[in-house]
Amino acid sequence: MTGPAKEVMPAGTTAGTPQVLLAHHLKHLKLPTVLREYDKVARECARDGVDHPRYLLRLVELELIDRERRMVERRIRAARVPAVKSFDTFDFTAIPSINKMLVLELARCGYILRQENIIALGNSGTGKTHVAIALGLAACQKGFSVAFTTAASLVSQLLEARDEKRLLSLQRELQAVKLLIVDELGYVPLSPTGAELLFEVFSQRYERGSTIVTSNLPFEDWTSVLGSERLTGALLDRLTHHVSILAVNGNSYRLRQSAGRRRATAAAEQNQATADEADPETGEIIA
Ligand code: ADP
Ligand code: MG
Repeated sequence: MTGPAKEVMPAGTTAGTPQVLLAHHLKHLKLPTVLREYDKVARECARDGVDHPRYLLRLVELELIDRERRMVERRIRAARVPAVKSFDTFDFTAIPSINKMLVLELARCGYILRQENIIALGNSGTGKTHVAIALGLAACQKGFSVAFTTAASLVSQLLEARDEKRLLSLQRELQAVKLLIVDELGYVPLSPTGAELLFEVFSQRYERGSTIVTSNLPFEDWTSVLGSERLTGALLDRLTHHVSILAVNGNSYRLRQSAGRRRATAAAEQNQATADEADPETGEIIA
C-alpha cells in the first residue's frame, strides 16, 4: 500500500486483508452504502454476469440514493417541525374552503424558487398547521432548507438574541433559510419591540426567501397582535406582495374528531350496558 494510506490508518493497523483497508478508506471517504453493499452487489453481479463498470455504477447509484435520503432526513430534523404531517394524511374533503389544486401546486415548491409567500387563514383546528408542516416537508424533499417556528417563539428568540448581543447572527440565519414557517400569528399579542423584530424578519426576507404564515385572525385584526397600524400595514405590504392565500375555514377538525370519538364511546357504552343487562351469569352490571 502507498504512503498516504498508511497515514490515515488507525494506530496498530497493519496492511491486513484488503477488506479491512477498503472498509477503512470507504469510511474515510464517507461512502457508507458502498461499504455496506459492495460484497452483496458483487455476488449479484457475478451471478448475473454484470461487468465491472456496471457493478461500480450500481454501487455508486445506491450511495447517491441513500445520500439523498439522509440529506432529506437531516433537513427535516433541522426544520424542527412539531410533528411529521403530510398531505397523505390530510382529508381535503373535510375543509371544503381549501383550494386543493392550489395546495398541491404549492407542494411542488415553485413558489420557493420565486421567493413568494403563503398565508393560511382560518379558525382554530382547521388544519393550518398540518398544511404548513406538509408544505415544509415537501420543501425538505425538494432540497430546500426549512425552519418551522411559532410567532410567539420566534419573537422570544429574537428578544433573547438581542439581549445577548447576537441578534444579527440570528437575523442572518433566519434570512438564509429558503422557507421560514411562522405558525400561529394571532394567539399572543406582541410587545412593541417584539412586533418590530418580527417585522424586520419579514422585511429582510422580502423577495429573498419564502415565508409561510398561519393565523386565526383575518388581516383587519392583525393590528391587535402587532400593536401599531403603521407597522401592520408595512408588514402586510411586504408579506402579501407575492402571496398565495389559503382560506382554511370550517369546523374544527379537532372538535369534530373528538365529537366523533365521544359518539363512538357513547355507542360502545350503550352496547356494553345492553350486553351487561343481558348477562345471565351474575345478573350484575360490570363496569
Ligand atoms: P390549526 O393549526 O388550524 O389550529 P391543526 O393543523 O393543528 O389546526 O389541526 C388540528 C388537528 O387536526 C391536527 O392533528 C391535524 O393533523 C388534524 N387535521 C386538521 N385538519 C385535517 C384534515 N383536513 N385532514 C386530516 N387531519 C386534519
Ligand atoms: Mg395551528
